[in-house]
Amino acid sequence: MVWAPIAPPATRRGQAATVVGVMSTTPDAVYLDHAATTPLAAEVAEAMAPWITAGAVGNASSLHAAGRRARAAVEDARDRVAAALGVTPLEVLFTSGGTEADNQAIKGLVWAGGAGGHVVTTAIEHHAVLETVEWLRDHQGVKATVVGVDPDGAVDPDEVLAAVQPDTRVVSVMAANNELGTIQPIDVLGPALADRGVPLHVDAVQAFGKVPMPLEEWRPAALALSAHKFNGPTGVGVLVLRRDLQPHPVLHGGGQERGVRSGTLNVAGIVGLGAAAERAVAHLDTFGTVVRARRDALLDGLLAVDDTTLNGHAERRLPHNAHVGIGGVDAEALLMGLDRAGIQCSTGSACQSGAAQRSHVLDAIGAREDAAHLRFTLGPETSDDDVARTIAAVTDAVARLRTGGTSNGGS
Ligand code: PLP
Repeated sequence: MVWAPIAPPATRRGQAATVVGVMSTTPDAVYLDHAATTPLAAEVAEAMAPWITAGAVGNASSLHAAGRRARAAVEDARDRVAAALGVTPLEVLFTSGGTEADNQAIKGLVWAGGAGGHVVTTAIEHHAVLETVEWLRDHQGVKATVVGVDPDGAVDPDEVLAAVQPDTRVVSVMAANNELGTIQPIDVLGPALADRGVPLHVDAVQAFGKVPMPLEEWRPAALALSAHKFNGPTGVGVLVLRRDLQPHPVLHGGGQERGVRSGTLNVAGIVGLGAAAERAVAHLDTFGTVVRARRDALLDGLLAVDDTTLNGHAERRLPHNAHVGIGGVDAEALLMGLDRAGIQCSTGSACQSGAAQRSHVLDAIGAREDAAHLRFTLGPETSDDDVARTIAAVTDAVARLRTGGTSNGGS
């Protein structure tokens, strides 16, 4: 393993973005898989350091000085997350990540109503939501409605609203899709559901730090975040939970986190998450301008490859996501050829890498079957040179594969 520090790109205002090194087995690899996970930011690692050095101690539930110190660090992080989201600290509950936050929100809100009930979700949700809803349906007698999406991967808010029944306990719709980057109409759906008194859970794991999230307008009942998607540590996340709600806990134990999420608090992770959340909001502009411009340049170059089409919505998409279908080539052969050329991207979501099965999101939008579908997700450290290298590598690898050769990634 070597550390390959990546030069910070100059921002529009001429300032340098925070340096984020990407640790890679390939020193000059171009990491374009930020939707899978992001490099830990230097200032986040620094904030966590006192809590992960030898001898660090403190259970945030202990009453002595070490415990109080840990509690103060946790509450400071809670305040930072609350400020980053525009909610009150009471509404911020720490979890082990996005998967747990999604499970807790959906199962908890369903179970709080007793046996039965109904859930509405969409066909392009992350497995953390879809599998949860399917499990409730198959093992708990909960009714479920899964609303489809249009060919751009966008859900129609009217269809979601029409699916609501008198016994609907929760509606779960993601803020932005992890594969296609399509942004969902939470701005319309959120207020409409809130006015009807139907709890909305928003999986904002991919949207947070990439696009503004006006929660005072969205008015969600619950919302999930995951620190490793915004340059924080892996294994820690947030369930934002409206203060008047008391979902049934998934984990039973010591009653931490408003009695919703038992378990000794992960102080180092939570401190890192707090620093990362603050940093993510401060970098929103960079995503909206610099990263978006580089993503557009990458898309232009990729779409210039013969028989290549854009997946996902052209405008309502995350600023760092480029997702394309390239006709007549095998996705895995292309991905591995690009990997050998030092370009790291994804064929669908990380959770599905390695699985031969086609992604449910591609099925939901009716994506072409005769194409390799690749997702490139940029970060603030992605440079113009990285973009140029990626376009050249894809063009070369596709040409080789189409002429029947192996994609060795060129010289
Ligand atoms: N929701 C979405 C939209 C995601 O993209 C992911 C991870 O890829 C998750 C939930 C799960 O988050 P975590 O990795 O923290 O469990």
